Parts: sequence; C-alpha cells; structure tokens
Amino acid sequence: MKRIDLHVHTSASDGTLTPAKAVVHAKQLGLSAVAITDHDTPAGIPDAVGAGTAMGVEVVPGIEVSVDWRGRGVHILGYFIDPAAASLRHLLNWVVAERRRRNEEIAAAMRADGIDVTLRNLDGGNPESVIGRPHFAAALVARGYAADVNDAFRRYLDRGQIYYRRRAYIPLRQAFEVIRDAGGKVVIAHPLQYKLSEDERLELVRTLVDAGAVGMECLYSQYDAEQSAYLKKLAARFGLAVTGGSDFHGDRKPIEMGSPDVPYELLQRLKER
Ligand code: AMP
Ligand code: FE
Ligand code: FE
Ligand code: ZN
Repeated sequence: MKRIDLHVHTSASDGTLTPAKAVVHAKQLGLSAVAITDHDTPAGIPDAVGAGTAMGVEVVPGIEVSVDWRGRGVHILGYFIDPAAASLRHLLNWVVAERRRRNEEIAAAMRADGIDVTLRNLDGGNPESVIGRPHFAAALVARGYAADVNDAFRRYLDRGQIYYRRRAYIPLRQAFEVIRDAGGKVVIAHPLQYKLSEDERLELVRTLVDAGAVGMECLYSQYDAEQSAYLKKLAARFGLAVTGGSDFHGDRKPIEMGSPDVPYELLQRLKER
C-alpha cells in the first residue's frame, strides 16, 4: 500500500526539521506523499517541493490556521494552496503580528518569574519561523521546569495556566475565503482536540461544512481505531472526504511521521473534490 502523511510541521513554524529534511525523512519512511502544513506560514513550501522533486516524494502545499469558533481556536488545514497568493499572505502577516504581540506577553511573564526566555532564543536559528506555544514549552523543558512538552502545556501553557495568553484567531469566513482564493481545499483538523460535547461538535462541523470544508482529518496520531471509525461516520454523514496525518513536529513532540497509516487513495479522493 502506498502511504502518505497529510499533516507535517517544519522549522518554518513549530517543527524542528527544515522543510527539505522533513521531505528526506518522509522518503526514508517510504512515504509516497507528504503535505507540509505549517501554522500560519507557507514559507517552507518552496524548499519542500524542491526536495520532493529531487527525491520522488509528492509534496502537497498546505497550511494550518486557527479560526475563531465561539471564542475558541479551531484548526483548519488548507491543501493545494498557492503559497504566493496575495490575499493569503496579507492575512497571514496580520496573524503573525498578532502572534508576536502574544508571544512578547508570554516571554515577559516568564522573565518576570526569572525564566530566561526571549523570542530570539526560541526561534531555533530561523528568525523567520512562526513561534508558538510549543516553542515556549520546549524552553521550559530545556530549563528544567517541566518533564516534557505535554507536561509544560499542562502546568504552564494550556488555557487557564499561568503563562497562557490569548491570541486572536482568524474570523472563520475570512479564513475559508482566503484559502479558497489561494486555490486551497479546506479540511477540518483533528476534530476531537477541542474539548467539545457531541452536540457542540456537530454544530462545529455543520458550521465548517457550510463555510466550505470538503474534508475531515479522521486518521490522526492521537486517535485510536474506535475514534477514527466514529470520525469516518461523521465525515460520511456530512459528505466530507476522509483525510489523515500525524501532526509531526520533529523533536518537539513525541509523534512520528507516517503514523497512523494513511493510504494514498485518500489524497486521490481529496484531489477529486
Ligand atoms: P499557539 O497556536 O501558539 O497558541 O499554540 C498552539 C499549538 O500548541 C497547537 O497547534 C498544538 O500543536 C500545541 N498544543 C496545544 N495544546 C497542547 C497540549 N496540551 N500539549 C501539547 N501541545 C499542545
Ligand atoms: Fe504545532
Ligand atoms: Fe493543529
Ligand atoms: Zn498541526
């Protein structure tokens, strides 16, 4: 079976492998296709596409953004985007500025507690990378404040914890409009990560489908067979294509690329939408 991974982060956002190295890794794992889905930036796409061409791995240009749904940040994936599309770039510039404002607040709060963190020492040597809470989590682990990234979130960075600071999420309709203007197809990311009741989940999916979502990430590294089966039923009920990916972040999270198994056929079906 040809296998793929439709959810991969690189050092353009909060992954630790460069875009080219992420594609090399995909090749080593025997994957036929990989989608680069960095948070809020298409900057890694050109290098990944170049590496893919050189190595015979199909690279799908993608992005992951957080949209506002009832004050929460819900993640959507955009596939087959043109990374140079002007309206997309314009919107992402705003998002990144908003992140920077929020990140400065987190760093200042940590420094006030004697934790030596600056945005410059979080960027892993790439001043262009989009910094997020996982970078702060890794810094807390490196400085001995937490056992691992999940522990750092639980104790310091999750909503309600001392270093949590809110950032603005993109208005839902605007995110869909801009991704579709860039030629992208929208897929609902990891639908079980939002701590929703069943009723809320159905309302969320209905809203996203009305806005133009064509697929749902049913296969995901954090979901067992039962959860994936439930999500596939949900996808069928709403006429959504089934997709899947790992949410690989390199060393920053204990998740391997290519897990779970996602068949190439799902990418084929997504293309036909
Ligand atoms: P940000 O967009 O900077 O607020 O950070 C959100 C990112 O942090 C998400 O995309 C996840 O990758 C990660 N994240 C959020 N909550 C957790 C958690 N409890 N454990 C590990 N990673 C998390
Ligand atoms: Fe992430
Ligand atoms: Fe996500
Ligand atoms: Zn992700």
